[in-house]
Amino acid sequence: MMRYSGFRVFTQGLTGNTGWRAAWRKPAPKPEYDVVIIGGGGHGLATAWYLAKNHGITNVAVLEKGYLGSGNIGRNTTIVRANYFLPGNSEFYSHSLKLWEGLERDLNYNVMHSQRGLINLFHSDGQRDAFVRRGNAMLAQGDDAVLLDREGVRRMLPYLDFGQARFPIYGGLYHPRGGTARHDAVAWGYARAADQRGVDLIENCEVTGIDVENGRVTGVQTTRGMIRAKKVAMVTAGRSGQVAALAGMRLPIESHVLQAFVTEGLKPVIDHVISFGMGHFYISQSDKGGLVFGGDLDFYASYAARGNLPMVEHVMEAGMTLMPMIGRAKVLRSWGGIMDMSPDGSPIIDSTGIEGLYLNCGWNYGGFKAVPASGWALAHLIATGQPHETAARFRLDRFATGHLLDEEGTGSQHNLH
Ligand SMILES: Cc1cc2nc3c(=O)[nH]c(=O)nc-3n(C[C@H](O)[C@H](O)[C@H](O)COP(=O)(O)OP(=O)(O)OC[C@H]3O[C@@H](n4cnc5c(N)ncnc54)[C@H](O)[C@@H]3O)c2cc1C
Repeated sequence: MMRYSGFRVFTQGLTGNTGWRAAWRKPAPKPEYDVVIIGGGGHGLATAWYLAKNHGITNVAVLEKGYLGSGNIGRNTTIVRANYFLPGNSEFYSHSLKLWEGLERDLNYNVMHSQRGLINLFHSDGQRDAFVRRGNAMLAQGDDAVLLDREGVRRMLPYLDFGQARFPIYGGLYHPRGGTARHDAVAWGYARAADQRGVDLIENCEVTGIDVENGRVTGVQTTRGMIRAKKVAMVTAGRSGQVAALAGMRLPIESHVLQAFVTEGLKPVIDHVISFGMGHFYISQSDKGGLVFGGDLDFYASYAARGNLPMVEHVMEAGMTLMPMIGRAKVLRSWGGIMDMSPDGSPIIDSTGIEGLYLNCGWNYGGFKAVPASGWALAHLIATGQPHETAARFRLDRFATGHLLDEEGTGSQHNLH
């Protein structure tokens, strides 16, 4: 097992960098595992790691149809925060942020977690009231929140339009512990750590069938053959509906495309994460210098991992409204990811009506920051049979019982809010 450290970088530098080993093995699938995780995104890899680390369960395979990190984990805009309002969400995201704060040490991997602070802008008295309530909920949960007035925002973000702005800035809710992390490094860090504990990471292995006998899961059919398993977890984000259908389940999930954009590299100009309160626009600057930004979903369900022009125009317009200086930057790339949208905008981490079959989905556009706590909670559920206390409300049956967790009143139908 190779540990990464500054000393290792130094000694490798002296020997021509010839001693680095591959970050994880490329094993062939074994005929049987204790646990098979379908999906090598952030949530699947984190689940494998916490199964190994917290519960000593290492006879585990993660089956990924593409390459590790090819899904939303490598496509998101990297924002990490704990600024939720509702009980059920609050404690979960608070737990996740604490795990982020120890993650690099835990994984022995630099995921470039940067707590540069997040500012949610507000533009009306009503919005201020809503953010004051949210800020109080964050403080009550033990997280941090600071209410900024207009001058407070101007001091931190002088480049926003404070002149004749179409939507004048009234202030902002500042979350100092919020920030960003390098998204693909998170996938690689979890992958490497899980592999070192003996988890098999199997790429180019699509699950095409889920075997169920007498109400119990017995294994999966894949493009690399049949694999038996005592327990199977479906952790496939935007493909959750299709994968659950392999077990005869119909989920309350819609798949929608969400786009993101990055500009050419610029000198440091934006040193926080900012979200606009009157349009669908949020932005930060990557460590390479690109301005990374995004907006809302394209307004119809789709399995295409690329977006359409009307939303591009909408996002650019919102950006120009908030900070006209952005019009000078050239957009370098844009891409899309397939989002698993639940009707109430909150996730599902639960067992199913099939014994030994577990479900983790419904991350909407906010599942990157959830990766550590989600893996932690799903591993707990798989190992103990009980929901973890931080994820106790993420039940599948809430859509039947009416115990919804409707944080933003948006869910899968953004066009209707
Ligand atoms: C543009 C964009 C911006 C975002 N911004 C943010 C943000 O700033 N902050 C935030 O918190 N969240 C954000 N998100 C959301 C976040 O990225 C997702 O909620 C999260 O990554 C989803 O979980 P995952 O990482 O496990 O998904 P994925 O990485 O998509 O993992 C699922 C994996 O399952 C695999 N799979 C599917 N079907 C099968 C099969 N049959 N067999 C085997 N494997 C299969 C897929 O190939 C994929 O690799 C954003 C998402 C997008 C697209």
